[in-house]
Amino acid sequence: MASTALETYRTYCTQWEAQIGAFIEMKAIAPDRAFPVVAPEASQGNDLVGLPFAVKDNIAVQDLSLSCGSKLLEELRAPYTATAVQKLEATGAWVLGKTNLDEFGMGSSTDNSAIKQTNNPWDTSRVAGGSSGGSAAAVAAGMVPFALGSDTGGSVRQPASFCGVLGLKPSYGAVSRYGLVAYASSLESIGILADTTARCRAVFSVIRGKDPLDQTSQDAPSAAAPLYGTDPLGAPKVIGVLSAQAIAKALAAVAAGIEGSPETQETAAAAALLEEEVRQGFELAKTRLAALGHRLVDVEIPSLKYGVPAYYTIATAEASANLARFDGVRYGRRPPWAENPDDLIDKTREAGFGPEVKLRILLGTFVLRSGFQDRYYLRAQRIRSRIRRSFEELLGSADYGNSETPRCDAILMPVFPTRAFGRGDTGEALSPFAQKAADLYTCCANLAGLPALAFPVGLAGGLPVGVQLLGRAFSEATLLDLVEAYEQAHPFPHPAGYQAFWP
Ligand code: GLN
Repeated sequence: MASTALETYRTYCTQWEAQIGAFIEMKAIAPDRAFPVVAPEASQGNDLVGLPFAVKDNIAVQDLSLSCGSKLLEELRAPYTATAVQKLEATGAWVLGKTNLDEFGMGSSTDNSAIKQTNNPWDTSRVAGGSSGGSAAAVAAGMVPFALGSDTGGSVRQPASFCGVLGLKPSYGAVSRYGLVAYASSLESIGILADTTARCRAVFSVIRGKDPLDQTSQDAPSAAAPLYGTDPLGAPKVIGVLSAQAIAKALAAVAAGIEGSPETQETAAAAALLEEEVRQGFELAKTRLAALGHRLVDVEIPSLKYGVPAYYTIATAEASANLARFDGVRYGRRPPWAENPDDLIDKTREAGFGPEVKLRILLGTFVLRSGFQDRYYLRAQRIRSRIRRSFEELLGSADYGNSETPRCDAILMPVFPTRAFGRGDTGEALSPFAQKAADLYTCCANLAGLPALAFPVGLAGGLPVGVQLLGRAFSEATLLDLVEAYEQAHPFPHPAGYQAFWP
């Protein structure tokens, strides 16, 4: 019985993979692999026994690819395994393979991968989102029940939303980053893409916690709500809602606040405005959450308007430092011949990095150049503090003496202004500039270090629409409770051809 199930599963994966190209490397499945073995008496964490999972190809799994979607590292095999993966393997889950991504996590479509193209399982002419597009597509297609991704500015939540699955970006430091190839260290977390909220909770309960190999990692404070808590799932909460009007107001300020030509200002603001289907999906989420007994209050986040410039200043500055290690000396592909060490580095990077990575390294060195740090980098850090403070005021995790602000348990926000976009000249594509401006809704959680959980609301025109809930630091339990109750009332959709192989 088990081997027949395994055979069917193997064929299923091969068929989907041919259409969506989610994996950079898929492991051969051993014929004697028990599949899937889920202990009937499964309890916390143990319910992952026997389940396959996928890992974004910028997270190390010993002896497997660690290309980071880059030509430069295409032949690199990881010498060790990331802590998060090790913990999952220790529970009895197993790695099916390594998934495609935008090179080094830089992008929103996975089309910045130098290795291959990944398609959206709902419509293969469209992108799966990014940068964890391969992980999101693999989960949406039912090839794996969950996958690991990394979220520096939205890279777990945005592809989750494009593919109609769940995407959790944990609080900064909640999950060890040991074994994650760094893009922007102060912003990023290893995150989870999953088919159900219960699965997401089980995976998070396994991978979180302090790791001596990552000094920024920490255990949840004792005051944090327990993941498997006493609070009934549907307990009424106060949810702050960033309404379409509040967004429009912040965006008007974006247009006014961006230096440059009027067209640039308008494009930036327009790119972040919600597509009608996404606006309707957002309204539907509001109605449903209210019907579940939660109290919804409108909130405004004026500092939102500075989110994208602050994010791209900090992210590129950190990227330029983090990527300096790729010099052709220690890792990856190097040119066959070089005049001297400098020439070796130049040639390695010239041939190895794609255009988006080069652009970001240049931007990063520009904002950090001597004598100009206070103009860009330090200013971005101040904005970052301001954004964190705005969220803490709303979420009541700090008392800034503003008694008029309602204390919210979570904040409901859009994930991305559009549904999965298309490619080429179809009129459905999104320019690289528009993609960056559209990171507005996701990058704030990274700047503030807060947890955020994206989940599907429904379909519009055959494509998934997602929303996200942001919470106080280490309040993942609250977000998961809210979404699990929502999911019980409104189960998540699956694309045509989807088959469930696990309970
Ligand atoms: N779209 C964002 C970027 O391109 C998100 C990246 C990420 O979270 N890794 O930087």
